[in-house]
Parts: sequence; C-alpha cells; structure tokens
Amino acid sequence: MTLAVKPRASLEGQHFHAVIIGGGINGVAVARECARSGKRTLLVEQNDFASGVTSRSTRIIHGGLRYLEHGELELVRESLRERERLLRERSHLVHPMHFVVLLNEQSQRSAMKVRAGLWLYNRFAGRKSSASVGEMELKRVQRALDAGHQWSMFSYEDAQCEFPERLVAEWLREAIEAGAVVRNHSEVLAVDVVHGRARGVLLRDRTNGKDERIDAAWVLNCTGPWADRICQRSSVRTSHPMVGGVRGSHIVIGRFSGAPTAALYTEAANGRPIFVLPWNDQVLVGTTEVPDTSDPGKTAPSAEETEYLFRAVTQLFPKAKISAHDIKYAFAGIRPLPYAERKSPSAVTRRHFLHDHSSEGAARMISVIGGKLTTAASLARECARKVGISVPEPKAIAVGPGHNLDPLLDNAVVEIARAGSVSEESARGIVEWHGKRAMDIARMALVSAELRAPICPHTSHIVAEVVEAYRNECAVTLGDVLLRRVPVALGPCWSESCSREAALRVGAVLGWNEHTLGENLESFEMERAAFLRRPSPRGTTALEAAAD
Ligand SMILES: Cc1cc2nc3c(=O)[nH]c(=O)nc-3n(C[C@H](O)[C@H](O)[C@H](O)COP(=O)(O)OP(=O)(O)OC[C@H]3O[C@@H](n4cnc5c(N)ncnc54)[C@H](O)[C@@H]3O)c2cc1C
Repeated sequence: MTLAVKPRASLEGQHFHAVIIGGGINGVAVARECARSGKRTLLVEQNDFASGVTSRSTRIIHGGLRYLEHGELELVRESLRERERLLRERSHLVHPMHFVVLLNEQSQRSAMKVRAGLWLYNRFAGRKSSASVGEMELKRVQRALDAGHQWSMFSYEDAQCEFPERLVAEWLREAIEAGAVVRNHSEVLAVDVVHGRARGVLLRDRTNGKDERIDAAWVLNCTGPWADRICQRSSVRTSHPMVGGVRGSHIVIGRFSGAPTAALYTEAANGRPIFVLPWNDQVLVGTTEVPDTSDPGKTAPSAEETEYLFRAVTQLFPKAKISAHDIKYAFAGIRPLPYAERKSPSAVTRRHFLHDHSSEGAARMISVIGGKLTTAASLARECARKVGISVPEPKAIAVGPGHNLDPLLDNAVVEIARAGSVSEESARGIVEWHGKRAMDIARMALVSAELRAPICPHTSHIVAEVVEAYRNECAVTLGDVLLRRVPVALGPCWSESCSREAALRVGAVLGWNEHTLGENLESFEMERAAFLRRPSPRGTTALEAAAD
C-alpha cells in the first residue's frame, strides 16, 4: 500500500499527559478537549480517523425519541442539548431535518403512545408543538405508500449530519491546533501496565513499520467496539466483557419516484424501528440489530440483513417498483453498547460509561463504552474531567425553535465562487464540507486549472479539496481522502472508472508516477469494496425473489 505520508518524527520515549487510543468521533473529541486545556496529548488511530463505527452509523443527530420508551429521560435531555449545540456551531455540517413517524394497523406502537412520546420530546426540545411537515409533502408520502394499509402520520424535527467524517476532520484539526500530536495508521499493540498502573503504550506505526514506546500519565481507551480487545492485549482482566457488540446494517438505494424529502421512521414487519432517510442524493435505509462479537474491522451486512432492509422499503413503497439493482451498496458497523447479559439489543441503554480499570490492576486507564455521535462532545468533557482536567461547562444553549442558516451559507457560496473562480455548485460543496476553511481552499483553487478541476466528471467537488486533505487533515491514503475527508466515493454514481479518473487527476497534481498511482488505486478499491458491499448478481436475484 502506498502511503503518501510526510516523514513522522519519532515519539519513542516521549511523555504525554493523555494518550488516547482510537480516532473515532469519541477519541477525537476527547483529544480535542485534553489538548485545549494545554495538556500534552497524543491520539493514536490504527487505520484512519472516523473509519470505524463513526462512518457506519445512520448519521442522525437526535435526542432519541425511542429512548423515551425505555425511560432514559436524562439521556434524551442531554442529547437534545448537544443536538442544538451542533446545529448552531456546525451549521454547515448538521442540518435540521423533518421526520415523519408512520404507523399502520399492524404497528406495535399505538398512535396514542406515539402522540404522548412526541408531546414529551417536543417539550424537552423547547417546542410547543411538532414542527410540521408541509401538507403537500405528507400527501406525497401518502400517495407513495402501500395503499393496502391505513396510515397515520406524525411529524417532528431532529437533525442530520450527512458526513460525520467531516465533523471528525474538523475536530481533529482543532485538536492539532491546540497542540495535540496525532497519528493515524498507527496501532496500539498494548498498554504498558506496571505495578498496577498504566504507564504508556507500545504502538506500531504502519506507515514505516517502526514500534515506539510512549509514556503517559493517563491512557484513554476510546476504541468503541474494540475496547475489550485493548484490555486483552494488555492483560487487563475485566470481570465481564465491557462491550456487547451489536451489528447494525444499512442499505443505500438510488432515489426512486415518490422518495420522501422528509425522513421516515416506521416499523418493519417484526416491529423493529426502521429509518428511510434522504441522504447524499440517495436513500439510506437502516438498521438491523444482530449480536456480533467478531472482529469489528471486518464486519459486513449478512444476506439476511440486506434482504430484511430491502423487503422493508419495497413493502413500504410498492408503487415505486424498487429493484434489487437499485441497491448501490450496503454497509455495517458494530454498536459498542455496554455489555448487558440477556437483554434484547434495543433495550440496552445508549448512554455511555467511563470504565475505570483501577480495581483491575490498571490505575489511570479509562475505557469509554457506548455513546452516540450526538453526545460525543459532552462525553469528551466528562472524560477530560476524569483525568484531572478542569473543563468548564460550555455556555448554556437554549433548546428552541429550529433555525435556518441557509441565507448565511448562500452568501458564503457567492464569495467562495468568486475567490476561487469556481462554479457556485462547487463553491456550495466546498462551504458545506469545509465551513470556515472554505476560503483557504478557494485561494488554493485559484492557482491552477488542475486544482479547480472536479475530482471526477460526476462531482462538483474539486482537486484542491483533496490537496487540503493530504496537507492539513492528516490524510495518508487515497481511501482516507475519497471515503472520509472529501467523501465523494459515497455518492450515487461512483464507480471504478470514477476511482481511476480521480486517481489520475490527484496523481497529476501530487506528482505520482505510474507505480504510485497504481498502488494507490488498488488499495483504494480494496478498501471501498470491503466497506461498501454491493450485492452479487446471485444475491440480487435472490433479493428480487424474496421481495416478491
Ligand atoms: C448501525 C449504527 C447506527 C448508528 N446510528 C447513530 C445515529 O444515527 N446517531 C448517533 O448519534 N449515533 C449513532 N450510532 C452510534 C455512533 O455511531 C457510535 O456510538 C460512535 O460512532 C462511536 O464512536 P467511537 O469513537 O466510540 O468508535 P469508532 O468510530 O469505532 O472509533 C474507534 C476507533 O478505534 C480504533 N482502534 C481500535 N483498536 C485500535 C488500536 N489497537 N490502536 C489504535 N486504534 C484502534 C478503530 O480503528 C476505530 O477507528 C450508530 C451506530 C451504529 C453501529
């Protein structure tokens, strides 16, 4: 694999206040919090930042309407506060989104229960009533639904972060600016535990194969579904597993006739909740809950899960004649839920826990268990306090009526288009993904036509964004760029020819020779195929038969 990485300074023997293992949304948020307090901080990620569960989620920033069923009122309150903060502070990445709860005569939840739940949810969210989806849209959804059922619809508002990968990239940059040292493609082989205390970590830098030993006052295990594996490697014995891994899968299908512009929240035939969401010019359908303790890095949707999700969406929209060929890809992630023996996965709390390993012979080692995209920032504050850092509570944010920041974005788009001499469409893409960094990218784009060129013929995102990712966002591989920093390869029409075209355009600017280009392309295609699974032709035929 070719790693276009600048030589890295050795970390051997260096001392940090906090070493954070795992660069998902939680690890990056914790590193940012520790570094901002002025403490020496190291963040280590075995693959790439946000390549784990964080990029395999449903991407909703929500209070968790469903958690009310389980009486998790405090979690809902906290999540709504954090949702509000993200909507205001990261308005280019996190957008308000209308949701419609759909019930029919077979639904396990009654209309009364949903109404009561929404009343409470709206009160917590500071709204007097549900934000209503327009009559026209409700009628459009109604027309597209299976006419053989009596549908009831209830609308409310939550939010969506289409690209948590970009949120992680921004927080990562803020961590670095605050002084954090960060290493992706570097694996922690073990935590050093001596005389009952965590003293540091042994890591292997995969870009050069070198092993380095690092000292630390605190070791924070933020590896999500890998958390128990870190303990096993370090001979830290817990009385029971910390994580009860539950696989969740999604399918992504092309936009179909009658596809809703609001997010739909309904029940599959087995009563499990299902989301059908507009996402990235496609439709995201999820999710499943399958206990899974296998290697989280190799997780993939099973044929049964793909069939279950496909059947759910075709039964909901029979008139759209969605075919198995419309499935662009499927992907899966392991929810790092707190271990709970004999509890059904949906009943396990979505709260996070900080597991202190002092009583297991590893003082000053903390494992972060659970959490959500939505609450990563509050988790990070709690975690930083646990390691002796004083973190003030951020200014209270009033949860209240939705906000519309579109006019501000519109102004920025015009300014960026002018500054970079790029189309308004490209400028919009740059503003939405790069926020306040958009102007730096526009200035870079002005330098040459190659930098202003689209990454592939089907996207308005430009090569300058890729260069920015390599230069300033710690991207090492082409996969780091096209799947996460500038995630155009998640788009509706990405194909092998787009990958080739993108590699050619990027390679021309970065000066890759034929060999480097070939290696980058090959490893990118391998990563893409392992992550975004396309049903095989046989699988497609079986899906068509099963949905009939
Ligand atoms: C199907 C599904 C849907 C979800 N939907 C939502 C949603 O809509 N909204 C929401 O708020 N939340 C959602 N979540 C939850 C959310 O995605 C996760 O809680 C969150 O992403 C966990 O982040 P993390 O940083 O803890 O884990 P990860 O993102 O998995 O990060 C852990 C990192 O640790 C690294 N690592 C592991 N071992 C090592 C090692 N030895 N050395 C170095 N690094 C290592 C891994 O490579 C990985 O990148 C969903 C989760 C799933 C699975």
